[in-house]
Amino acid sequence: MTNPFLQCIDLEGKWTLLLDFSNAFNSISREKMFEEVRARIPSMAAWLECCYGAQPLLHLGEHTILSRCGVQQGDPLGPLSFALALHPIVERINREVPDLQINAWYLDDGTLVGTADELNTALRIVEEDGPSRGLRLNRGKSLLYIPEDATFPFNPLPPEIPAVRSGFDLLGSPIGPRRHCEATMLKRVEKVQEILERLPDLQDTQMETTILRSCLALPKVSFALRSCPPHHIRNASSVFDSSMREALSEFAGGPLPPWSWQKASLPAALGGLGIRSATIHAPACYIGSLDQSRELVARILRRTPATTRHLDPALQDLAKSTGREDWTSIEEVDVPLRQCNLSKAIDQAVFDGICATAPDTRFRALALSSSIPHAGDWLNVIPSSALGLHLLDREFRLCLQYWLGLRMMEEGTRCSVCQAVADPFGDHQIGCGGNGDRIHRHDSLRDALYSAAQSAALAPRREVPSLIPESRSRPADIFLPNWKRGQPAALDVTVISTLQQLTIAGASATKGHALVVGEERKMKAHAEACRSVGVSFIPLVVESIGGWSERAADTIKSFGRLMGQRLGIPSADSTTHLFQRLSINLWRGHAAMWIRRFPIKSAVVDEWSNYY
Ligand SMILES: [Zn+2]
Repeated sequence: MTNPFLQCIDLEGKWTLLLDFSNAFNSISREKMFEEVRARIPSMAAWLECCYGAQPLLHLGEHTILSRCGVQQGDPLGPLSFALALHPIVERINREVPDLQINAWYLDDGTLVGTADELNTALRIVEEDGPSRGLRLNRGKSLLYIPEDATFPFNPLPPEIPAVRSGFDLLGSPIGPRRHCEATMLKRVEKVQEILERLPDLQDTQMETTILRSCLALPKVSFALRSCPPHHIRNASSVFDSSMREALSEFAGGPLPPWSWQKASLPAALGGLGIRSATIHAPACYIGSLDQSRELVARILRRTPATTRHLDPALQDLAKSTGREDWTSIEEVDVPLRQCNLSKAIDQAVFDGICATAPDTRFRALALSSSIPHAGDWLNVIPSSALGLHLLDREFRLCLQYWLGLRMMEEGTRCSVCQAVADPFGDHQIGCGGNGDRIHRHDSLRDALYSAAQSAALAPRREVPSLIPESRSRPADIFLPNWKRGQPAALDVTVISTLQQLTIAGASATKGHALVVGEERKMKAHAEACRSVGVSFIPLVVESIGGWSERAADTIKSFGRLMGQRLGIPSADSTTHLFQRLSINLWRGHAAMWIRRFPIKSAVVDEWSNYY
């Protein structure tokens, strides 16, 4: 919507006039509304007249007045009725001033672009036809914009209408020179900063992170990013990114190195936190919006819009963000020009970048493994204690540190359970079998799946000792008497440490390598024995970083679907919730292991030991 202006307002000898009516919605004439609705949408006329035809009494202190004009706030028909009553004015301007560059209205916000004569004629029409429709122009609140480089820098309209030269805001979007766009965007960033400062008052890192990524990050400025050329707001975008990074450093308990910050800027599905960088994604927002509004712009302008002069620099930024140097013209961009597709291309480039620049094998394996489907599900939950989806402050902080590859302790620190020298990144602790923590973590996953199978009416049984005759082997964490094609199935849950010595090299080369190792090991141990008694063996393997094997994910999806059908909720929701619950259980299990194995004061250890 704002794009036509980017193409027109700097035309030689043209002015932009923004019109403002006094109390427009409350004063619009109901008679005119009825007249227009009868003429244009007769099928709706009876209903509208029934709603607005009566003149109910309004009481104000000792006074009683009739409600005779205006539309009701909150009435879904209100905006349409208002627009209908206003429409004849817009049409008359179109007829009598056909050369106006723009005659565009969004309800009571009218925007006209044209020469001095054209604007004066349009203004006369508005002031002639408005009052009988209940629309009185407020000259003092209307605005004339004269571009800074205009060669006619005077105000050709009545002097009560103020003129500006520095730019203006239209429907929340800054229009005008770079300085104005930058200043408007900076104001928005400052508002975000104010909220960011207060976020720690919640004293709940999971809640703070959720609010940050869903409400305060890119969503807060995406409107500005969609409507301003990226090179006009570069400085403000970079201030915004710094604020995000600072807030995140606060959550993670220390400054974020560049690699971790880049990882955090990826969506959760690619191993990040979904806190996208405004600087990097600005060209995707702008070009996506430009392309999407092309048709509407053509309709408003009554001609195909010329390519805006801001497209080329935006395209250069996009080529840089995506690493696609071959995108030198818009025709060469070989993905759909929608914002989501362009942003996806940027995310992929950032992901490839962190894989390529990973400091060592471990970090590369971490990056690959955290992009396996469902690994980041724990970040997408709505933190709710009642639903078991809330992580305590310290738990969440540790998970965040591990996910982003941050140092969790000093080099050479010993594990307080097995006394081995542990790595500083927390890998040893989540694989340490020095006490029953690993079993607890495994059991919490098994129990969540068992309970899902119960809800899905699959009559599950837990740990069936006598499944394989004359053997002590217990391949069934969960036994389903009647699974696919009516065959019984033994489900075995396994958490495999991605970053252990056995798998780290493979995991740094191939995504999901540890899952393959885990599955093969389990199949070798149990598949044949199960087959011999007519039972399907299904290993459910999850990497310590959270990604499930394809086979496991399929089984979980089946549980989710059956649960949804039985409970009467959409299968997609029940499946998502099941994956999220499993993800939270896994990471809560990790957190327990880190907390118990850190060399911290005994009083604190005792406190946490009681908790777990
Ligand atoms: Zn240990």
